Amino acid sequence: MIFKGIPVSPGIAIGKVFVMEKEAKNIHKRSVPQNEIKSEVARFRKAIVETKRDIIEIEKKVKREIGSKPSQIFEGYRMFLNDKVLISETEDIIRKQNVNAEFAFSMQLKKVISDLSALKNDYLKERARDIAELGHRIMAHLLSCDDEIKWDEIPSDSVVVAHNITPADTTNMKSNAVISFVTDVGGKTSHTAILARSLEIPAVTGLRNISSNVRTGQPIIVDGASGIVITDPDEETVINYKRERKKFLDEKNSLRRLIEMPTVTTDGRNISLMANIEIPEEIPTALAYGAEGIGLYRSEYIFINSDRLPTEDEQYEKYASVCRKMLPHSVIIRTFDIGADKMAKFIELPEEPNPIMGTRAVRLSLKLPEVFKTQIRALLRASEIGNLKVMIPMITNVLEIKKVKMLFEEAKRELKDEGKPFNENLPFGAMIEIPSAALTVDLIAREVDFLSIGTNDLIQYTLAVDRVNENVGYLYEPMNLSILRLIKWVVIVAHQLGKPVSMCGEMASDPSFTKILVGMDLDELSMSSIAIPKIKKIIRTMRYKEAKEFVRDFVSPLV
Ligand code: PEP
Ligand code: MG
Repeated sequence: MIFKGIPVSPGIAIGKVFVMEKEAKNIHKRSVPQNEIKSEVARFRKAIVETKRDIIEIEKKVKREIGSKPSQIFEGYRMFLNDKVLISETEDIIRKQNVNAEFAFSMQLKKVISDLSALKNDYLKERARDIAELGHRIMAHLLSCDDEIKWDEIPSDSVVVAHNITPADTTNMKSNAVISFVTDVGGKTSHTAILARSLEIPAVTGLRNISSNVRTGQPIIVDGASGIVITDPDEETVINYKRERKKFLDEKNSLRRLIEMPTVTTDGRNISLMANIEIPEEIPTALAYGAEGIGLYRSEYIFINSDRLPTEDEQYEKYASVCRKMLPHSVIIRTFDIGADKMAKFIELPEEPNPIMGTRAVRLSLKLPEVFKTQIRALLRASEIGNLKVMIPMITNVLEIKKVKMLFEEAKRELKDEGKPFNENLPFGAMIEIPSAALTVDLIAREVDFLSIGTNDLIQYTLAVDRVNENVGYLYEPMNLSILRLIKWVVIVAHQLGKPVSMCGEMASDPSFTKILVGMDLDELSMSSIAIPKIKKIIRTMRYKEAKEFVRDFVSPLV
């Protein structure tokens, strides 16, 4: 069977399917305080709505593919999704027993399935299987933020197939036997996809229904560059893909000869190429690919991968170790960007209808000053090594910068009193990833030492396209003129104020945009390590003057 999805991380994997199910046996009972019951019920209803949406999509696809009236099963699914016994009773359990939605639903699901299975009527018995399948989908939506997988039990050469994979799941893959993953949902700049690229795990997302069409142990091929996934390939296909895999690896190796060479255009313009990392274990790869520093260390992964708040000392050790390993190059650590698709188990986020535009990143940090202060103190202490810079994510307005700076000043005073050393002039930067920040960059630039453009979010918020939603992925365009104008505006204004600008969004790692970014005068480009040699090759063969002319004609005569 051949599936076509969104290619998110290049490379070819030839292995065996491992269906990652977040099964009922992993569901823990959690008591929910009375004042949170309403939002727990709302969370359950959201999972139902999302499942209904899945079902409509699958039905449409089946109709498109087989061209006839879809089977009655969809009618059945719709009926169950409105079914009082399954849905209202679950809500009653949540309310009456003050328990979490997963637990309440799994109890009710078991009951309905066992009642149906006990019936003599074969048709109804068959429906028990449909309900189990549907229940699995609902549970997958409910559990999309939990990490309950036993990673060390996964057999080697496994290709994980799942409805959804969280960023936390992805960080677990590298140290285990997983050679690739594919999912039903997800877009190209989701954090899961970014991580796959960073960790060099071939991956395809947005396959819609692959998780319910494969079984564990089945042979599978994943082509992360084209988005093609093949199950039960014949011998000839396997031979062809082995050849493709060799070609991919040879190409990667041939780019390695560029690692020692400077990143300079044919007419002498230098651009620094830095690495984005999520976990300190990526440092050797960053250095191996010739990174001239770390342009973005997503520090939230320290929180995401932990069951409790990491202490100041634990955080300090991690930050200091990254800084030491990167000396003499600089390291930009971004304060935690938790929220939306990145959750930490021990931080209770408010139940929000639209988390992408809700309590996320610096907004959350400012709501949790104690947690934030712990991180700030750890960062300040690591700044003593000398190559650290910090930056703040998701800045909406200059007031947020001022509030964060006050917390830094407070922490500096404390450390001084305690006699702990730190860099008094620690460079301080802001991420420009919300249009309001780009358009008021003059105010923000005056408060900071450097700026870094996060195009993943800038594109999302400018074009109103959810970056993890594959349904609107076709509108997610880095080359949209609005995006190019915002970037150009930020660079012009920041440079007038003497502040350097880097780009750490995924746009920086795409070779098709390199010419325009160099022509727009970005000072640094930061990307997944694997992309560095490819981008360097382009820069070393291009003329800066030509790139500038291209930008002048293309972006706008005004900027
Ligand atoms: C961005 O938004 O471009 C960015 C680099 O931050 P993140 O992808 O972590 O949201
Ligand atoms: Mg961002």
